Amino acid sequence: DLHNISDIPKPRYVRVNTLKVDADSAYFELKKNYEVRKDDVVPDLFILPPGTDLHKHPYVINGSLIMQGKASSMVAVALAPEPGWEVLDACAAPGNKTIHLAALMKGKGRVIACELDEKRFERLKETVRLAGACNVQPMQGDFLALNPEDPSFSKVRAILLDPSCSGSGTAVDRLDHLLPSHGTGGSATAGEMSRLRKLAAFQKKVLEHAFSFPAVERIVYSTCSIKQTENEDVIKCVWPIAESYGFELATALPTWSRRGLPVIDGSEHLLRTDLVEDKEGFFIALFVRKGNHRVSIS
Ligand code: SAM
Repeated sequence: DLHNISDIPKPRYVRVNTLKVDADSAYFELKKNYEVRKDDVVPDLFILPPGTDLHKHPYVINGSLIMQGKASSMVAVALAPEPGWEVLDACAAPGNKTIHLAALMKGKGRVIACELDEKRFERLKETVRLAGACNVQPMQGDFLALNPEDPSFSKVRAILLDPSCSGSGTAVDRLDHLLPSHGTGGSATAGEMSRLRKLAAFQKKVLEHAFSFPAVERIVYSTCSIKQTENEDVIKCVWPIAESYGFELATALPTWSRRGLPVIDGSEHLLRTDLVEDKEGFFIALFVRKGNHRVSIS
């Protein structure tokens, strides 16, 4: 009987920072002391038994292993940036996805990592330093204030958009009341609704801004929220704008079976992880622009 979400045994996931160590070496190192398996969806992600404490492991301390959950590790994989690309991480701190992008790009090309909050920006820089992600260029500022026509962004081919959200898919202390109808996010109080609406308005704004970068071909949008308001509803609302810029929804991680709630056309392209089954509730949408479709904003 499930009374408490925090009681669900949660496997410990660690991602190998391939900028520092190759996955096989890390695997054999962990194998010496732990029961370890490779994840079948995310490359370079290992699964250890619930409760495994790796905080003091030398590989964690030196940035060779990153304590990052499975759902969170799916986001950069869904974006699939290639070595040599220019990529923008729009809401970057603390930077786990930033350094994952850098690793997928094998340290080649450039990741511009934008973060608004001053304190969180310091954490972002520390994450990047520890990971040895030399191709990351952290910048403090408001993503919404970046001018897409600025020449410094003219080669940006992909944007990772992981904006502030309710955190309703991960914040353990806030989860329990959601259990009876966790699939759609449970019922919300009036205060909660107004907070969700504000978050959703922000999420739509950042997505629309991302569409306007001239050379962008791929955009991944993610939240650690289980609320339809912040997920499918956001996609539905920005859909006409996405289309006007030539974007389509593409299937994020096609082998994953849990898809978006069937409340919008194309929900089969969207990806969800389940609060109970997957121990975390995440949402991922992938937009792709084919060919050289460029729309100038007049
Ligand atoms: N992607 C990060 C990771 O995986 O480590 C987590 C990002 S967190 C969900 C959202 C971040 O967006 C917060 O650090 C927040 O301060 C930042 N943020 C909020 N509004 C922003 C804006 N307008 N421009 C840039 N960053 C913003």
